[in-house]
Amino acid sequence: MTIFRAGSNVAWLSYLLAGHVLLGVYYLVPLTPAGMPIRVVLYCTISMSAAIAVFTGVSRNKPQWRRAWVLLGLSQVVYALADLTFYVSHYVFHFTDYPSFADVLYLSHYPLMVAGVILLIRRRTPGLDLPSLLDAAVLAVVAGMASWLYLIGPQARLTSPALVKFATLLYPMMDLALFVVALRLIFGAGPRPRAFVLLTGNLLMILTADTLYVLQRLDGSYQAGNFLDAIWLSGNLLMGAAALHPTMARLVDRAVVKDAGLSRGRIVALSSAALAAPVLMLVHDVSDSQQDILVIATGSALLSLLIIARLAGLVADQRRLAITDGLTGLHTRRFFEAQLPLEVARARRADGSVAVFIIDVDRFKSINDNYGHPAGDQVLVEVASRLRSASRAGEVLARYGGEEFALLVPDAAPARLSTIANRLRERVAASPIGLSGDIHLSVTVSVGSASFPIHGDGPDELVVIADRALYTAKAAGRNRIAVGPEPLPAVDPDTDGAMAEFLCQVADRVDGWLHRYDHSRSVSRWAGVAAAEFGLDSSTIRIAQLAGRLHDIGKVIIPEVVLTKPGALSDEEWRLLRQHPDFGYRLARMVPGFAGVAHVIRQQHERYDGTGYPDGLVGTDIRAEARILAVCVAWAAMRSHRPHQTAMDENRARRELWNGRGKQFDPDVVDLFLDLHAQSTIGNLRPAGLSVQEAVFPSDWRA
Ligand code: GH3
Ligand code: MG
Ligand code: MG
Repeated sequence: MTIFRAGSNVAWLSYLLAGHVLLGVYYLVPLTPAGMPIRVVLYCTISMSAAIAVFTGVSRNKPQWRRAWVLLGLSQVVYALADLTFYVSHYVFHFTDYPSFADVLYLSHYPLMVAGVILLIRRRTPGLDLPSLLDAAVLAVVAGMASWLYLIGPQARLTSPALVKFATLLYPMMDLALFVVALRLIFGAGPRPRAFVLLTGNLLMILTADTLYVLQRLDGSYQAGNFLDAIWLSGNLLMGAAALHPTMARLVDRAVVKDAGLSRGRIVALSSAALAAPVLMLVHDVSDSQQDILVIATGSALLSLLIIARLAGLVADQRRLAITDGLTGLHTRRFFEAQLPLEVARARRADGSVAVFIIDVDRFKSINDNYGHPAGDQVLVEVASRLRSASRAGEVLARYGGEEFALLVPDAAPARLSTIANRLRERVAASPIGLSGDIHLSVTVSVGSASFPIHGDGPDELVVIADRALYTAKAAGRNRIAVGPEPLPAVDPDTDGAMAEFLCQVADRVDGWLHRYDHSRSVSRWAGVAAAEFGLDSSTIRIAQLAGRLHDIGKVIIPEVVLTKPGALSDEEWRLLRQHPDFGYRLARMVPGFAGVAHVIRQQHERYDGTGYPDGLVGTDIRAEARILAVCVAWAAMRSHRPHQTAMDENRARRELWNGRGKQFDPDVVDLFLDLHAQSTIGNLRPAGLSVQEAVFPSDWRA
């Protein structure tokens, strides 16, 4: 046996064996007048030995915190003194009054024991540990019910002198109190070394013997020296052995992991407890007893409430676990992804905003590679805590992936995005992160952000744009922030000149009158992506982008009443409106190098079947960029609210494009556009962004 291998381990076992040998001898001594004194000496020796063993154990094993053990030892001393007093007064002085001084000692050993166990529990699990408390309470209610029905109640109804009744009632009540704390100790978290098993064995044996004793007393079957002595004494020996066992010092260690769940054992215990009430009621009914219905009813009600409270706690725990990241304690990605659509919907209703920040630790892999995964974890925990300190109540901070975090900020004005992003970045970089082993690492993060409604119109799009911004920040050298989508490459004032820039502002102005959306910027981006997907060369792609950006500038000379007229246009108004491609063409022609762009603008309303305007061009006579532009412009128009028509849903708009294949549109362009749209690459409109038009054009500019 392993116990004998380590020298210091055998004391408890030797004690237990020697004690049980003495116990055997005790039963061999006959219950004769000559044998009685020997029995008394043996009995008292065993019970006193347990008290000595406890204090020996405390001094040998030197637990860091000994208060609980001292109380348990004292309770054993009082218990042994009670035995001594009882037997000496009984057999030496033939004093048989009940209750006697021995009962005072017996009864006062319980509070010491209960206090010792409570100290132990509080030391092991400093918090409330509500689940264990509830489990213990469920069993305690059952024990209390049974105790009342079979121990306390019958005694209370006996016609005996008040003092006798009082003492007799006190015993089962003390036992009940001890049972409750014993249950709490057994159910509670904390180390369960062998000393723990021995100690709880002691508690359960004392309780069993006490209970049987009262029952035997009630039905008159008790005889001094019967098998109950063996249970009491064996229990005492277990207490001594527990204190002698080297693991007794670990009994007061703090519980590390708190088990929030329900083990199979607990489920069995709790369901048996729940069934106890109906079983007791049935037994009561069979024995035709009308007494104590109130006790059983109260017990049942308490049991139901306790079990419901326990289940509610479990549900709350599960929910907490599902939304809390185990390593950092932040919210999980799942929680973030559930909150984001709610916040976007709220902002949409309230005309508010929502900002999303994606934060990624820079070169994190090298931290793992150089210092190990546990050090990496430590860094993640510290980064999480710094990010938490940089965020505020009402914001949702989540661990989004391995070393990626996400922050959701409701009602963040677009102008604040870079301030917030920089606050997050600076807080992480503020000081090196200390790891165990006196290592200090400078850790930085890159942050990408996007805001509803100006950068994205829905949760998914927001995250995609914030993620793209993150990569822009990474590409720019890390420890940086980036906000919103990458700027369009369409017009560069340095190479295209002030005239081109001015036309872009005109395009923004027209967008401002006509669209809630960033119409020309979106069309420009889609046209560029589609042109690139077609494999067109870079200068053609650029023409497609520029034509997309400027396709509506011709509308600047059309009266606003015509542009925004809700009803059908008159023939004259149509004639005017159909001139806008040509006006646009003339404006664009004024920019040196924009001849190609101007032609595409002019051809934007040509139709593949030759029925378009202004020139009725057919098929590939229409420039490729213009064929692409026609589809993009039609899609943007169908998908946004216009003065005379509300926006079509996606499916309807897709059908319209499909129906126009080979008629209004180049079939290849339609196929490509629908493909790219299905992949969410193009086709999503963004609400109008922060535009510079107000600064550039005074509000009475057209007057
Ligand atoms: P970059 O600056 O481009 O973001 O570089 P990086 O090294 O941070 O990028 P990458 O995404 O390639 O590396 C992320 C690493 O994070 C890879 C993975 O091993 C590590 N990682 C992911 N989850 C955990 C975790 O929970 N703990 C630890 N220690 N490492 C993790
Ligand atoms: Mg990284
Ligand atoms: Mg990463």
